[in-house]
Amino acid sequence: MHNNLKIIKDLHYQDLSFLTKDISEYISKNCNMKAADRVAVKLNLVGPFEPQKAATTHPEVVRSVVEALLPLDCEIVLCEDISEENVLEVTGIKELIKDYNLKFYNLRDYGYESVLVEGIEYMYSSLIESCDIVISVPKYKNHMLTDFTGAIKNMYGCISRKQRKELHKFIDAGDFANIICSIYSIRIPDLIIMDSIVCMEGMGPSLGEPRHLGYLVLSTDGVFADYYMSKLVGYETENLQVLQTAFKRELTKSQIDDLKMIDCGFQDKEENFNRVPVYIGKYRKKYMDMLKRTYKVDDSLCIRCGACVDACPFHAITLKTIPEFDRDKCALCTCCMELCPTNAINYKK
Ligand code: SF4
Ligand code: SF4
Repeated sequence: MHNNLKIIKDLHYQDLSFLTKDISEYISKNCNMKAADRVAVKLNLVGPFEPQKAATTHPEVVRSVVEALLPLDCEIVLCEDISEENVLEVTGIKELIKDYNLKFYNLRDYGYESVLVEGIEYMYSSLIESCDIVISVPKYKNHMLTDFTGAIKNMYGCISRKQRKELHKFIDAGDFANIICSIYSIRIPDLIIMDSIVCMEGMGPSLGEPRHLGYLVLSTDGVFADYYMSKLVGYETENLQVLQTAFKRELTKSQIDDLKMIDCGFQDKEENFNRVPVYIGKYRKKYMDMLKRTYKVDDSLCIRCGACVDACPFHAITLKTIPEFDRDKCALCTCCMELCPTNAINYKK
């Protein structure tokens, strides 16, 4: 197996004490880190979801990463773009910050700089750009729009929220995969430590079901890490637009032989993982049209705050007694679900 990929299996969040040693060894072997380096640790905190929902990077994985970094004497820049005050508390990250007396950096507070990729100007996080090392700590999940989310998609959060809203207009076409890959290409992380211990199957990225798989994926190549997990849960990777675009644009450090080696040696497949149906072309549009008609707001949870109305890039929500959706305008971007502070938006099962 390619020496930059390390898979640790049979893990449970209740007992990760030994992980710190594994992560430390992996960092020293694969990362040229010096004392006083600024090290961005980019989490996936998509919204105010409790750790057991499997929507966000689990705090115990973050704890192991922090403990591996502390003896290295670097500056730990624990960061993500969060929109709600309560995200840190609900996801369990606030307690961890307190335990280690760390500072949390909300990317939106540190400004953005313009970066041009393939003719599109992105407003990219100045904080991430200022770091010497970037460690991405994503969660592997299903994603109804992009099929899955992991290492590549985790860097999407590094552009301004305003622009993320605007870019959702590319969702319908396969262009969105290109956008995600462009953003990933701006600052390819030095290391990936992907939380795949409990993943999200079903209606990811925020409304699916947790599924224990027990894996931690360490890699110097995010495309390879995503490829590995997507294979593991049984996706036909040749149909995954984000992965195929990343390969086409040569955003991987891996060689075709590395992939073949994984394909041949794959005996651990989680065949019954509840994957999102992967459609391409006109079938994809039909599927999305069907899906967007299943949105509903739980009246008992909705506090009528209007956050979903503000979040919607397509002006598809009107706040009446409860929010109402214009299904023809909706592009199924999931912004409203991710930003609802009470998780009141869901699908009719
Ligand atoms: S659905 Fe959620 S975001 Fe929208 S108004 Fe209700 S509580 Fe607020
Ligand atoms: S209604 Fe929700 S899912 Fe649909 S476009 Fe608006 S924010 Fe996105």
